[in-house]
Amino acid sequence: MDTDSAPTGELSPAPARPDSAATPGVLSAAPGGPHGDSLFEQLLDAAPDATVGVDQAGSIVFVNAQALRLFGYRREELLGEPIEILVPDDMTRAHRDLRKKYAAAATHRAMGSGNPLHARRKDGSVFPAEISLSGLQAGTGLIVSAAVRDISDRLHAEAERARLREEAERAKLQNQLQHTQRIESLGQLAGGIAHDFNNLLAVIINYAEFVTDTTAGHLPAGGDAEPWIADVNRDGQQILRAARRGADLTRQLLAFARQDVTRPEILVVADAVHQIEDMLRRVLGEHILLVTRLPGGCGPVLLDPGQFEQVLVNLAVNARDAMPDGGTLTIDTASVLADADYVSQCPQIRPGEYTRLRVSDTGTGMPREVIDRVFEPFFTTKAPGQGTGLGLAMVYGIVTAAGGTVGIYSERGLGTTISIMLPVTDRRPAPRTEADVAEPDMQGHGETVLLVEDEPALRQVCRRLLVAAGYRVLTADDSTAALDLARRQPDGGIDLLLTDVIMPHLLGTTLAEQVTALHPGIRVLFMSGYATPVLAARGTLDPAVRLLEKPFTRDQLRSAVHRALR
Ligand code: ADP
Ligand code: MG
Repeated sequence: MDTDSAPTGELSPAPARPDSAATPGVLSAAPGGPHGDSLFEQLLDAAPDATVGVDQAGSIVFVNAQALRLFGYRREELLGEPIEILVPDDMTRAHRDLRKKYAAAATHRAMGSGNPLHARRKDGSVFPAEISLSGLQAGTGLIVSAAVRDISDRLHAEAERARLREEAERAKLQNQLQHTQRIESLGQLAGGIAHDFNNLLAVIINYAEFVTDTTAGHLPAGGDAEPWIADVNRDGQQILRAARRGADLTRQLLAFARQDVTRPEILVVADAVHQIEDMLRRVLGEHILLVTRLPGGCGPVLLDPGQFEQVLVNLAVNARDAMPDGGTLTIDTASVLADADYVSQCPQIRPGEYTRLRVSDTGTGMPREVIDRVFEPFFTTKAPGQGTGLGLAMVYGIVTAAGGTVGIYSERGLGTTISIMLPVTDRRPAPRTEADVAEPDMQGHGETVLLVEDEPALRQVCRRLLVAAGYRVLTADDSTAALDLARRQPDGGIDLLLTDVIMPHLLGTTLAEQVTALHPGIRVLFMSGYATPVLAARGTLDPAVRLLEKPFTRDQLRSAVHRALR
């Protein structure tokens, strides 16, 4: 490399201003001797980048040590050669054109910062390069100095960074999906338990009512009854109270599992919030300020009003618990259009128009580990007896069943915002059904009820209640027995089929079809605590289906039967 044979002494890169060319000899690129150690060369070799000088004809006139290393040539192999020797074959023509244009208006300029340029080594290998050009006025004319940087590593690192970013993004989506799936399977589990539990509660509630009713009948106003009767009555009341609390819990579980029976209505969220504002204030207490921002113009949504109230009350209770020393709870609504951009960030949301309901508090906030688990049923950070861990699980179930999503933003020490997106409906309000109208407790007049229930204790309770209410009752413990019974009855011999929905062998719905075929005039009343998937298309109950929700009380059973027969 030190065998230097720079062709001419005219190669000194004379500065553009002739008056500063006071030290031409020093700057001469011409080799001072066989070792080529002129100051110019030393400077060139000290430069961080590979540098190549090209004259107007396109010939290489100087080259530094870095360039020799980068391109794999010896100096004498490059000097005097056309610069295109360093350019990939497919680009030589374009390069030549560019070079001529540049010579016409030489300025300092960076090339290759947009699309990377490419350069070719002696061994033919090509690498991406960033090239910056400067024009030097030499005695013989313009010389272009090109500083060449191999940017393979940088491009590689950038690609790697992009890959990692993409991977992280994918992992995040995967994580979200797994989280949703875990909550779904918890929902199924919870729903199954709640279903069985509801049957037990129905039995407990009704037997406890037998006890309280019977004993109440022996508690004359005069008070001369035996004391144990009053004791038994009180005990019965306690059992009733506890069982009803249990029924509340199973209702929350079923809401989470999206298996409770809902009666969605067209709901204007702002109006619905407005209606329960006073109640929320009472829930929150005086130390918490409730602020509502409910602008008009948000589209109506399809939601069970009772469930909407449960959602807001649960969120308000959580906020209250997070602000023991007081604070502010803000409820606001807004119209949000989920477009392609929005959906790409929230894959669980479908494109369309939404009404967003936000509930924000200025409370304690929660750490990441808590945020990740809040929707799980029974997850609570509260002391035993103070939290059931069902609040947000229920909110989640209700909102997702309505086609919406729930998001949480929480900052420790600053507060929490729950953001609920509910899809705007284009449905119009439906007329109220007779089922919404309260019915007094009515007696039967010997009508025949075919009662089908596979849970023996519940079957007995229902039978007893119906007989006491004046009905003739035929019982069957499954669909097969029910069909047998129905076949043996004369035409018009059964007035009402009262059947469980989920039974072994045959679903109540199918049984109803077959019994109706045998007795065309028969009425049907379903009972279930777990009916939505079977009875309801997309979570909404057909108004024609009569359903008695378990667990039910005596009065509810009697009035449902009475209405079904009317
Ligand atoms: P519970 O209120 O019975 O504990 P939830 O499902 O309503 O059950 O809430 C679960 C947990 O989430 C709470 O125990 C609490 O740790 C946390 N949490 C919920 N809402 C808030 C809130 N607004 N601020 C702080 N923490 C909250
Ligand atoms: Mg709660």
